[in-house]
Amino acid sequence: MDFLRPASWEEALAAKAEHPTAVPIAGGTDVMVEINFDHRRPEYLLDLNRIELLREWEVGEENVRLGASVPYTQIMENLRAELPGLALASHTVASPQIRNRGGVGGNLGTASPAGDAHPALLAAGAEVEVESVRGSRFIPIDEFYTGVKRNALQPDELIKTVHVKKADGPQQYSKVGTRNAMVIAVCAFGLALHPETRTVRTGIGSAAPTPIRAKEAESFLNAALEEGGFWDNGKIITPSIAKQFADLCSGAANPIDDVRGTAKYRRHAVGIMARRQLGWTWEQYRGTGRPLEGAA
Ligand SMILES: Cc1cc2nc3c(=O)[nH]c(=O)nc-3n(C[C@H](O)[C@H](O)[C@H](O)COP(=O)(O)OP(=O)(O)OC[C@H]3O[C@@H](n4cnc5c(N)ncnc54)[C@H](O)[C@@H]3O)c2cc1C
Repeated sequence: MDFLRPASWEEALAAKAEHPTAVPIAGGTDVMVEINFDHRRPEYLLDLNRIELLREWEVGEENVRLGASVPYTQIMENLRAELPGLALASHTVASPQIRNRGGVGGNLGTASPAGDAHPALLAAGAEVEVESVRGSRFIPIDEFYTGVKRNALQPDELIKTVHVKKADGPQQYSKVGTRNAMVIAVCAFGLALHPETRTVRTGIGSAAPTPIRAKEAESFLNAALEEGGFWDNGKIITPSIAKQFADLCSGAANPIDDVRGTAKYRRHAVGIMARRQLGWTWEQYRGTGRPLEGAA
């Protein structure tokens, strides 16, 4: 196995163009596991760790430009206000050691349906900036996941930056696992309220072949909030609206039975998380901290 160590982004792109089968390695928390278990034996490893720009972030007017290799710890410590959903999701990743190494670029590279960054990125609204020697392009996050552990990257492309919309309202993230830390999600859910556009966005993890949004649930809730004047009057969301939203989120899930949980349990848990997160975020939006009326 050859180890390529480009000193700059341009060198990395040139190396990937010359060796399209080279496997990029950032934190290595997915790649090294696969190599150690002999699941993968790439001809070339492309080490991205000397490339400073991948570890940088920038807070702009509307977006955060997040370098592909910014570790989860940095997101938790420095971007909690701008990216609350992603910061919460980062908290649930593995252990401090893994969070110091792993980042969103690696989560996207692996594109596991169970990756914790995905529901938060889907809910916030993100675009993945990828580049090759041929040029760069922006892939909307909804179009990035193309199958189980497959993504929209071409063989010569690398992920440079993830552009995530800055929060304009409350966001939540939660996952169900067999314990509270160091656990792969049985299923996960993310929700973001966007008061500026009077919309909500969702993200579901580990309950379909790819991370997905519950688009029908979003449309239902957007219409219900608009019709009831909720964004303006700040009233408590009725239990029937919350239930219908939760049911539609459950229905959007397309899970399988596996060692971590049954499809039925996953669908149920997605609905529970959706209803709870709607309660939490809406109360935060109203600024009262009161629990959702009628919700158990
Ligand atoms: C003990 C343990 C616990 C874990 N727990 C969790 C968890 O709770 N939640 C979770 O989501 N994940 C978990 N993971 C998986 C892993 O930590 C995450 O997926 C992490 O985000 C990977 O980031 P990385 O930088 O280490 O990626 P790497 O391992 O370096 O790379 C991962 C993939 O992305 C590709 N890649 C990396 N950077 C780029 C780039 N710039 N351009 C193109 N492709 C790129 C690599 O080629 C590879 O295919 C766990 C892993 C371990 C070992």
